[in-house]
Amino acid sequence: MAADLRDVSSSEAAIQAASNLGEGIGQIRLPMAGNPLRYINGYVLEDDGGLTVVDCGWKADDVLAAMHAGLHALGHALSDVRRVVITHHHFDHYGLAATLRRAGVPELLMSERDWKRAEGFAQSRVANDRAADAWLARNGFAPREIDDEGFAGRWEVMEPTRTIADGDRIGRLEAVWTPGHSPGHMCFVDTRSSRILSGDHVLDPITPHVGMWRGHEGDPLGDYLASLEKVRGRGPAGALPAHGEPFPDFDRRVDELIAHTGQRDAQVLAALEGGAASAGEIAMRLPWTRRNRSFTDLGDWHQQFAVAETIAHLHHLEAIGRVRREAGPDPIRYIAVT
Ligand SMILES: [Zn+2]
Ligand SMILES: [Zn+2]
Repeated sequence: MAADLRDVSSSEAAIQAASNLGEGIGQIRLPMAGNPLRYINGYVLEDDGGLTVVDCGWKADDVLAAMHAGLHALGHALSDVRRVVITHHHFDHYGLAATLRRAGVPELLMSERDWKRAEGFAQSRVANDRAADAWLARNGFAPREIDDEGFAGRWEVMEPTRTIADGDRIGRLEAVWTPGHSPGHMCFVDTRSSRILSGDHVLDPITPHVGMWRGHEGDPLGDYLASLEKVRGRGPAGALPAHGEPFPDFDRRVDELIAHTGQRDAQVLAALEGGAASAGEIAMRLPWTRRNRSFTDLGDWHQQFAVAETIAHLHHLEAIGRVRREAGPDPIRYIAVT
């Protein structure tokens, strides 16, 4: 999933289900019915020994049908797919993987970190939900109950046949570990075309979500910034993002996202000028999405994402010495360091 969901125009004309991008790369738009993002891109790369599919959509009949139809339109079939490679564990990227394995795809690859997260969610969903609510409450935000049965049905856990580490070669692809959006997020540099498959790490014009959720450690936003620096220059021939359309000027977008993060840091600091506040209180003072919507105008899910993003900024500002956490009180409050 990514942030700014509501900003993606839903009025664009109908788009092709699959496109040949040249140099042995195809793009299949896999539907995300009912979600403002509308689709996720599965990329199909021709390689020695079969096809590599990067990201596979969530678990739903219309997604499986789109995968079959897209492969067919590109001149292939599912039986030509040697491996499915996952950029990160979010259900819109990984949910269909178990179905594809059962349909005969021999290999499934993802990072060890994201596999552990997926496995953990699958083992104790109810306990996880409760702990997530308690974590948000501790941060000054009482989430409304959300019916996530639709989510649960779109996701099925499947162990990878191989885990991927930073720098690994997978056929024509080189893995680049880019923590931030998820702890084990991977981008893939296509060594043949010099394009980068950027997953949810670098999207355009969407701003990727970087949140501090229960169970996250350290400074995810600091990790994200370091991961943006890490991929600069790695996609000289353009980006193949998981959402939206491929775009040519990858480094331009990297720089914009770094600048945007700095602007949000400044907004969080400004929101602290009146004194100590919890992440929930600060989130309510900030503008949200590119349309500067107020917090109360956001939907239930989006409010939780907004608070998680605010916590990520506060942890980052704490890590760089700009705010400190007030010891003791419940909820956790932050104060600017002057
Ligand atoms: Zn996504
Ligand atoms: Zn994601």
